[in-house]
Amino acid sequence: MILRASILAVAGSLLLTSACATTMTGRKQLVLIDDAKMDEMGVAAFADLKNSGKVASDSATNAYVRCVADAIIAVVPAGGAAPKDGKWEIVVFDDETPNAFALPGGKIGVHTGMLEVATTAGQLAAVLGHEVGHVLLRHGNERLSQSVAAQSILEASSTAASIKLPEYRDAIVGGLGVGAQYGVLLPFSRKHESEADTVGQRFMAEAGFNPAEAVKLWQKMLEASEGKAPPQWMSTHPANSTRIESLKASLPEAKELYRKARSKGKNPQCVPPPPKSKR
Ligand SMILES: [Zn+2]
Repeated sequence: MILRASILAVAGSLLLTSACATTMTGRKQLVLIDDAKMDEMGVAAFADLKNSGKVASDSATNAYVRCVADAIIAVVPAGGAAPKDGKWEIVVFDDETPNAFALPGGKIGVHTGMLEVATTAGQLAAVLGHEVGHVLLRHGNERLSQSVAAQSILEASSTAASIKLPEYRDAIVGGLGVGAQYGVLLPFSRKHESEADTVGQRFMAEAGFNPAEAVKLWQKMLEASEGKAPPQWMSTHPANSTRIESLKASLPEAKELYRKARSKGKNPQCVPPPPKSKR
C-alpha cells in the first residue's frame, strides 16, 4: 500500500504540473489526460457503440440530423479539445430511448428516440450544442482525471499516455458520458451541466437557431419527467427549474448572437422527418 501510494504521488505530481487548463468559460480545471489520448478513447468507444447498436438507415432522418449537426459544427471553434482534423462523424442510431452524446475525437451519436422529445430543429440544436459543449469543455477528461480510474491508470502505467481501453472501458465510457449503454451511469455534475448549457446555447444561436428553443426543450423535459421514470438522457441530464431559469437568464445575450447570425444569412433549413406514428 505504501509503495502504491508513493507511485501515485510521484506520477500524480509529474502529471499535475502540466495538468491545469482553463475552459472556454474561464474556469480552471484539472485535466490529466492529453487531448490525443481522449480522442483515441472517444473514437474507440464510438466504434464499440456502432458495433453494438443499430445504425439508422432512414435517409430523411439522417439528412435532418446531419443538417442540424453540421450547422452547429460550423460554429464550433477549432483547436483545443475539438478534433484535430476538424472533422466530426454523425451517426443516427435506431433506438427508441431518447439519448444523444458527443465524444472526443469528433463523434456525435443521436438516437431516433431523441427526435420524439426534441421535436424541432432548434431543440435538437440545443441538445447537440450542449453535447458538443461537454467535449470542448473537456468535461470527460476532467471526470476521468478525478475518478478512481485515473488513479488506477496512473498506478498501472505511471503515465496517462498509455491508458488501455479494454481494461478501463467502463470507467472511460462512464467518464465520457455514454456509460448508460454499458450500465455505468455517471451523471455530469451541476457545474458541468450548466457550463455545457451556456456554451451550447451560444453555439445554437451562432448557428442561426433561436436560442429560446433551448428553454422550451428543458421545459418539455421537465414535464416529461414528472410522474415517471426519466428517459435515459435525462437521468444524466436532470431537468429542473434552476436549469431552465439560467437558460432564460442567458437568453438576451444569446438572442443577440442569434440576431447577428441571421443578419449574416445563417438560417439553417433543417426539416424534421414526420413522426413515426404518422408514417
Ligand atoms: Zn450534459
